[in-house]
Order: sequence, then C-alpha cells, then structure tokens
Amino acid sequence: MGIMEKFTDQTVLISGATRGIGKAIARRFLEAEAHIVGVYAGNNEAAQLFADENRQFADRFELLQCNVADEQQVAALFTRIDEKYPSLDVLVNNAGIRRDAMLAMMSYNQWQDVLNTNLTGTYLMAKQAVLLMMKHKYGRIINITSPVAHLGFSGQANYAASKAGQVALTKTLAKEVARKKITVNCVSPGFISTDFIAGLDLDLLAEYKKMVPMRRFGTPDEVAEAVLFLAGNRAAYISGTVLEVSGGL
Ligand code: NDP
Repeated sequence: MGIMEKFTDQTVLISGATRGIGKAIARRFLEAEAHIVGVYAGNNEAAQLFADENRQFADRFELLQCNVADEQQVAALFTRIDEKYPSLDVLVNNAGIRRDAMLAMMSYNQWQDVLNTNLTGTYLMAKQAVLLMMKHKYGRIINITSPVAHLGFSGQANYAASKAGQVALTKTLAKEVARKKITVNCVSPGFISTDFIAGLDLDLLAEYKKMVPMRRFGTPDEVAEAVLFLAGNRAAYISGTVLEVSGGL
C-alpha cells in the first residue's frame, strides 16, 4: 500500500456506520485520523460492537441513533454537528435497506420504506450537509448506490429505483455546488459480503457469484478504499461520477 492520506481534523458523517460497508468506511477514516459521527437505525448491539472494536479511537467518534428518513431527526442531528464540530468535511450516505418482492406482489409499504430510507434519506442528509459545507466552501459527499440502478434486478424494483434516484440526485447536486468546492459522487458496490446479503439462500448466492466476472464477492474494505479516495485531495476534480467497485459486473 502507498502512503495513506490523512483526514486529520476533518469531521466525517457516515450513515449506517455500525455494520457492513459503513463500518469499514468508518474504520478506515478513523485510521486516517478523522473525527467520525456515525449514525445507525436502531441496532444497539451492533453499535456497541463497533464501539468495542474501535476503543483505541474512542476520543474521535460518536455513534448516534437517527433515522435518516425522518426530517426532524436529521435536522436535530445537524444542529448537534454544527454546535459540536468546527466543520463538516465529508458526508457518506451509506444507510440503505432492501425489501425485495416482485413488483406485482410488492406492498405499498415495501415500496415506500425503501424509497424513504435510501432516497429521501440521501436527500435529507445531503441538504443539511450542503448548508454546512457551503459556509466553509469545502465538502465531499459520497452516496452509496448500486449497479442495479442501471442493470435492474428481479425483485428489486423499489431498491433499483431508489439507487437510480441517488445517482440522479448526485449528478444534479454536483452541478449545483461545484463552485463552492463541494464534490458529490457515488460509489457503487457490487455484491459485498455483509448482513445485507447474508440472509439469501446458498444456491442463490452461488448463482450471484457466477454473475461476477471475478467470481467472488467484494469486501467492505474494498468499498471503503474507493470512498476514501473520493473524499481525499487526489479526487478534487472528480464530481458527479459513479465509481463502481463490483469485480467487473
Ligand atoms: P447492512 O445491512 O450491513 O448495514 C446497514 C446499515 O445502515 C446499518 O448500520 C443500519 O443501522 C443502517 N440503517 C438502515 N436504515 C437506516 C435508517 N433509516 N437510518 C439510519 N441508518 C440506517 O448494509 P450494507 O453495509 O451491506 O450496505 C450499505 C449500503 O451499501 C446500502 O446503501 C446498500 O444499499 C449498499 N449496497 C450494498 C451492497 C451489498 O452487497 N452489501 C451492494 C450494493 C450496494 P442498524 O444497524 O441500526 O440497523
């Protein structure tokens, strides 16, 4: 590995920071000396495990329960960040859920829950972040989307639509804030081994693996590398793009 870029004195807000991909992203930022505000939905056990595993960085992170789809909770989160931290430098919109069903069988709630968390959550968090970042004329926003946004995937109309919506939001916001030195990009992980896909049956997982040209699932760390790159100085001229980390999907 080359020399790791440091994020010393930067504040990084990560949604879904306590499990899976978000947890790896948070860990890498902690190793790179950043201050982390990690948000999660309600799994306190996972949050406690994160805290235990990262005890060595205890003075540089806090974990907060906040539903990213709830306008009031997100507003309260940002009031706290504005009061406590000198700036907000990086936002990673990573919180995401799936509620799979064929569209003909998909309930209104399955549709709404996924759109609310994945897309409305991204909007609410990005809006508040941009207001803070504009004050300092600096910022990096990274939204975690998915290749299904452009490929489609049976049983995931709600999820695919929410992820395609994130890409469109990213490209639009990138144009709106470019002159404030705020970049907005997506990272698009392929199949990554996390709780997110752990529930699937083994035959299905084997089938998915065959779809990946590299014939393996990715790791949360491999996604985190791409996020740290886009958050760093080397990516200063990159905005409105989607960086796929998918083994060639
Ligand atoms: P996990 O299910 O492992 O973790 C999800 C995290 O998001 C948890 O920390 C969870 O909190 C949090 N979260 C969920 N809903 C909310 C909410 N409403 N408000 C705040 N936090 C919330 O997911 P992954 O790590 O696998 O996925 C992370 C992102 O990557 C998602 O956006 C997903 O769509 C995307 N992705 C994942 C792929 C994969 O193969 N794993 C492939 C492509 C994209 P809690 O623990 O409290 O529930």
